[in-house]
Order: sequence, then C-alpha cells, then structure tokens
Amino acid sequence: MFMIRMDELNIYNKRVLIRVDFNVPMKQGKILSDTRILASLPTIKLALQKNAQVIIMSHLGRPCEGVYDDKFSLLPIVEYLKNKLIKYKIKLVKDYLGGIILNQGEIIVLENVRFNHGESKNDEVLARKYAALCDIFVMDAFGIAHRSHASTCGIARFADVSCIGGLFSNELNILSEVMKTPKRPLVVIVGGSKISTKFDLLNTLSKIADYVIVGGGIANTFLAIENKVGRSLYEPNFIGLAKQLLSKYNIQVPIDLRISTEYSENSVDIIKNRTDILGNEFILDFGDKTIQSLVLILKKANTILWNGPLGVYEFPNFRRGTEIIAHTIANSHAFSVAGGGDTLAAIDLFGIKDSISYISTGGGAFLQFIESQSLPIISIMKRHVK
Ligand code: ADP
Ligand code: MG
Repeated sequence: MFMIRMDELNIYNKRVLIRVDFNVPMKQGKILSDTRILASLPTIKLALQKNAQVIIMSHLGRPCEGVYDDKFSLLPIVEYLKNKLIKYKIKLVKDYLGGIILNQGEIIVLENVRFNHGESKNDEVLARKYAALCDIFVMDAFGIAHRSHASTCGIARFADVSCIGGLFSNELNILSEVMKTPKRPLVVIVGGSKISTKFDLLNTLSKIADYVIVGGGIANTFLAIENKVGRSLYEPNFIGLAKQLLSKYNIQVPIDLRISTEYSENSVDIIKNRTDILGNEFILDFGDKTIQSLVLILKKANTILWNGPLGVYEFPNFRRGTEIIAHTIANSHAFSVAGGGDTLAAIDLFGIKDSISYISTGGGAFLQFIESQSLPIISIMKRHVK
C-alpha cells in the first residue's frame, strides 16, 4: 500500500494543509469527547516542529451545506486547541476560498468545510480552491475516509503534493495487520443495530476469525433462523445469509437473552431461553449463561476485534452483556482493537479506554476498511504518487 507519508517529506516553510477529523460530539457548544482532537495532535505537532506553515481543516456535524451556522462553528475546538498548543497563535478563518494570509508562528484553522457548497458532492471547483491554499495536502482524517468529499478525495487530486498523516497511516497499518496476521485465536465481535451494513463485514470477518461473537440486531437475525424473536430488532432479508454463515463458520449464537415487553429506559428485564421468546417481547441483551460462555471464549483469545454493542447498553437493565464483555476485553492479555461510534461511547461509559490496545477513530471508515481493505482516498493517493 504505497502512499507518501508526511514524515517523509521536507515540509520546512511549506504551506501544509492538514485535513483532520474534529467531528467531536458537542452539546451546547461544549465538547463531550476530545478523543478525535487528541488523536489529531501528533501530526499537527510534527508539522509545527518541522517549521511548516500549518493550516487545518475539518467538518463538524451536518449543517445545511452552503450556509454558515454558529451552531456548527469550529470555534469551541479552536479554543480547546489554544490550551493544547500554547506556544502558537491559532486563528479561525471564515472566508478562505479566495486565499488566506499566513503570518509567521500562526496556525490557521479553516471554518467547517461543510459550510461550503459542494463539499459533500466532491465538487471539483471547490476542491481546486482548497488545493490552491497549500503546497502540501495531508490527509489525516480517518473518521471520514470512507466518503469522497471535496476536502478529502477532491483536494487530494488537485494539490501539488498529497500525502497521509501519522494517524491515518497508523490506522491502516494496525487494521491491516489484524486482518492479515492476527495472533490466534482471533475472536471477532460484531454487534449493534446497523444490520444490513454489518452483514458484509461479518461475512469477511467470519472467514478469518476462530470465533465470531454476534450481538444486538445481528444476533437477533441469527436467532430468527430457528426461533421466534417477537418485536426484536432483526433483518428478515438476511436470515438466509445468516443460515449460510452459521453452517460454515464458528458463530456463537446466544443461548439465553434478556427481554422485555417494552423498549424503554426503565423496562424491567427478564432472562429467557432463546426458544421461549413471545410475540410481544423485545430481545435487548444477552442472558447470563450466554455471557459466561462468551467470557470463557474471550479469555482464550490472543487477538480481539470489536465492533458494535451487544445489547441496548444505553438502558441500565440491558447493558450487562456489553459491560461484562467490555471488561473482559479490557482485562485480557490479547491485542484488542475496537471501532465504531457507539462502541466507543460504550467504552467511554465503562471507563476502559486505556485498557484497549487500539481504538480506531473511524466508525464507517473502520468498517469499510476492515471489510474491503480499501477506502476511496487510498486509490487517489496511490495514483497521485505516480
Ligand atoms: P457502532 O456505532 O458501534 O458501529 P451501531 O450503530 O451498529 O454500533 O449500533 C449501536 C446501537 O445498537 C445502540 O444504540 C444499541 O442500543 C443498539 N442495539 C444493540 N443491541 C440491540 C438490540 N438487541 N435491540 C435494539 N437495539 C440494539
Ligand atoms: Mg452507531
């Protein structure tokens, strides 16, 4: 996978435009999780150390394209950055498409790229305007790398030099290694609610995994092969594929479940055998026997790859499966890799972030790269090298 990395280039005094992923969860102008900002810092700091003229750009949220909206301004992130890069003057610039002035020792942050018309359609005129702002474009926004936007794929085509940053290259290296040469046994966990998107992933991962643990809506779809699943989240169109996978691979279908007749925060949980689910019931988590048997499997693992909560972890009575599995992964000697928006939220909730070997900053990009070992930006970067 040959792509130029920023650390291989001479960037002294060059205008280096770094595309980061500052798309952090925010509430009323407050940053709820700084994980993605912290992950972007090493590349920014390296560029500064090498005396490049640093320009940063990112998206934030989903504003109406083409319209400025205070609610989605990068200002709170710029304020946050000031405390992390105290030696530098950091300026947020709103109007930049016609060009910018860069003063010595100043970092420029370009306002939310999603305020620009054509950003998500990968408009060529816009991409060329971004490219004209820099000598070198650095792609370091792994979290958005599954999308072909003007500030990712577009600019990469038109900038004089395009390369990848340290975070991006780390993500690719670690995820490829886990896929190609995992230390066995490799245990893969796929849960959550995005059933149709994740079945492709499950298909790919089942081929290489020694054990596959399914949870959430994915597990319910496997349960539906032979059992009634009541009003649970599942995907009838995927039962056929689930059946095929089950006959070929080592997939652990839960034996008992926590169910409720209501889908709500305070619903009472009852444990039932998988054969006993009634028409008005929701499966919302694993039962204790299932959790115990999965813990035994995880204790044998040397590599663990985790995407997707195992139950409705947002509801206290239905988080036990996700919580115990999360702690088992955290206490394991195995090399563990986790990715996915809700997976990370669960990891944060249980306070085990520091005990996971590698946490990917990507949700959709993490899934797409694992599934296909490719991302749109990768082929553009490769072409750009020639
Ligand atoms: P990620 O963002 O980590 O890729 P997903 O977005 O696919 O994960 O799924 C996360 C969601 O799945 C959570 O909101 C959780 O409540 C939901 N979920 C998990 N198990 C169930 C279940 N049994 N029934 C309904 N929703 C579930
Ligand atoms: Mg999610």
